[in-house]
Amino acid sequence: MSGVAREPELKMKIDVLALFPEILTPALKTGILKRVQDADKLTVNLHNLRDWATDKHKSVDDYPYGGGAGMILKPEPIFAAVTALNTERTAHVVYLTPQGVPLTQTLAESLSLESHLILLCGRYKGVDERVRHQLVATELSIGDYVLSGGEIAALVLIDAIGRVLPGALGDYESAHVDSFSHDLLDHPHYTRPAEFEGMDVPEVLLSGRHEDIEEWRYAEALKRTAMYRPDLLQKLELSEEDIAILKTAGLVD
Ligand code: SAM
Repeated sequence: MSGVAREPELKMKIDVLALFPEILTPALKTGILKRVQDADKLTVNLHNLRDWATDKHKSVDDYPYGGGAGMILKPEPIFAAVTALNTERTAHVVYLTPQGVPLTQTLAESLSLESHLILLCGRYKGVDERVRHQLVATELSIGDYVLSGGEIAALVLIDAIGRVLPGALGDYESAHVDSFSHDLLDHPHYTRPAEFEGMDVPEVLLSGRHEDIEEWRYAEALKRTAMYRPDLLQKLELSEEDIAILKTAGLVD
C-alpha cells in the first residue's frame, strides 16, 4: 500500500448513479465487498438515473447538438441526482470515462480516504460536457479501451477501494503484500503438493528459514517486475543489491 491510512472507525458511503445499476448487485453481495459492507465500513447505494427524469417517458438522453451518431446523457437528471445525493455537500464526484486519469492502486487508496463518493456512470456517447465542468471532481479511466457503460468501471473502482478499507482483509489476504504495495509486482505463490506432475516448489519455501524466504520473495518480485513491468522499475531507486539480483538474472547489463 502507498502508506496512506484511513481511520478505522470511519465509514465510507458510495452512491452509484447509472442507467443499469443492477449490473453491480451480484458483486456487491459477494466476498470481500460483502464483508466490508456487513462490517459497516462501507455502504453502497445504487441509483437509477431515470429516477430523476422529469418527463413521462423518463428520458435521460438526447441527440447531440451539431449532429452525429449516438445519444448524450442530459444534464438535468444528473444535476438533480447529484444535488439530491450530496446532502452534506461533502461528496467527491467521480465520472468514469475512458478520458480520465488511469486508475492505479495509489489513486484507489487515496479515494478510499473520502467519506462520500458519488460515482457517475455514463452510457451511449457519454454525458453532457456541463456535467463534467460543474459537478465532477475526478475523471477516472480503468484502461485504454471503451466499455459500453461506466457501471463495470465503477465496480472495479469500488472493489479496489473496498479491499483496502480497514477490516476488509484478514492477515492471510493482506493488501500490504499484493502487487504494487511496494511498487513491485507480487512474488510467485505455491501451495501443496510440494511436487506436482514433475514440477517442484522452490526448495527455499520448504526450508522454514523465514529470512531466506523473504529474501527469495523480494528477489522474485524484483525480477518479475523487471520482466513484465519495466516501467514500474524505472520509477524506483534500485539499491546495489537490487541491481546485482537483476544482473545475475540477466535482466540488466
Ligand atoms: N464517447 C466516449 C469517449 O470516447 O470518450 C465513450 C463513451 S462510452 C461508449 C460510454 C460510457 O462508458 C462512458 O461515458 C463511461 O462512463 C464508460 N466507460 C467506457 N470506457 C471506460 C473506461 N475505459 N473507463 C471508465 N469508464 C468507461
